[in-house]
Amino acid sequence: METRVPFLDLKIQYQQIKREVDEAIQRVVESCAFIKGPATRDFENNFAQYCGVDYCVGVANGSDALYLALGALGIGEGDEVITTPDTFIATSEAISLTRAKVVFVDINPQTYNIDVAKIEQKITPRTKAIIPVHLFGQPADMVPILELAKKYRLKIIEDAAQAHGAVYRKKRVGSFGDAACFSFYPGKNLGAYGDAGAVVTNDPALVERISMLGDHGAKKKYIHEIEGVNSRLDSIQAAVLSVKLKYIDEWNEKRRNNAQLYTELLKDAPGVITPFELENTKPVYHLYVIQVDNRDELIPKLAEHGIATGIHYPFALHLLPAYQHLGLKEGAYPEAEKVAGRFLSLPMYPELSESQIEYVCDTIKSLV
Ligand SMILES: *Cc1c(COP(=O)(O)O)cnc(C)c1O
Repeated sequence: METRVPFLDLKIQYQQIKREVDEAIQRVVESCAFIKGPATRDFENNFAQYCGVDYCVGVANGSDALYLALGALGIGEGDEVITTPDTFIATSEAISLTRAKVVFVDINPQTYNIDVAKIEQKITPRTKAIIPVHLFGQPADMVPILELAKKYRLKIIEDAAQAHGAVYRKKRVGSFGDAACFSFYPGKNLGAYGDAGAVVTNDPALVERISMLGDHGAKKKYIHEIEGVNSRLDSIQAAVLSVKLKYIDEWNEKRRNNAQLYTELLKDAPGVITPFELENTKPVYHLYVIQVDNRDELIPKLAEHGIATGIHYPFALHLLPAYQHLGLKEGAYPEAEKVAGRFLSLPMYPELSESQIEYVCDTIKSLV
């Protein structure tokens, strides 16, 4: 059967803003200021303001944002960094790239974010930082995390790659940590038309270090104080992002409405667990993820009905071949392991229609 409900549809959104985006791209092309031009600076200012922080440094992608933030905070060999095993590998990869050790803490089975009650037991004298991930657009519980950071003098780097605009206690995520990292991968809530990312912070010294690290260790051209990497936000992507930033709140609100409708329609579906919202938060549903018992049978049946789905993520990170060297066996993080076998991501994007959501929910209810 043809696809009746795609998992994601980036074309509808482009059609709605086509003229503005095309003009913004054209302006950059005509200016020929492709790298670190005014379009990049404009977006950095716009995005910092949006997040409620003083500074934003555009970088090449969200993975680099994490690596550069850790590096700029001085994290490296001999250090330990705590994060969740239930995230995209970019989070833990960034830790390993600095040569620090990845230390996982299991997730809270309701929020799917790092279990704040289990962090303290993993803190050692080598622990330097915690990376909470606002998974699926749901804010991590930042207050207890910030208390631990204060008590043990740890740095906090928010991985906000899936949570542009999500609100925790009346403030947007990205404004809580020493630094916060965003991805503008095309499918993210705020997506570029290629790879792009950013670090936001209130610390001017950190801004300087991140910019330097991301520009071959040079503050001034050809004066390389250290070795760095090439990781810059290019002007065309920045121009696209500035256009899209004007609509992000409206799009996030539509995602939230879609999520609410899904949750309402699925509440009597046997065995289906719908997302939980932490008190005092406004999640932005980068993904709408349910738990089901028979996921692996359900996916092909939904596909037969023209419904595309995904799994985010099929494995808890510590069980992947990439982390075999950590020697963590099955059972090490039972909550993360359990949901990895039960998670099912349903179609989610702002332009999804009510009738599409009804069709998805009716089909699920006829199959579970
Ligand atoms: C997408 C993502 C990243 C990486 O971002 P890229 O722009 O793809 O490099 C990091 N962390 C999380 C949680 C993500 O979802």
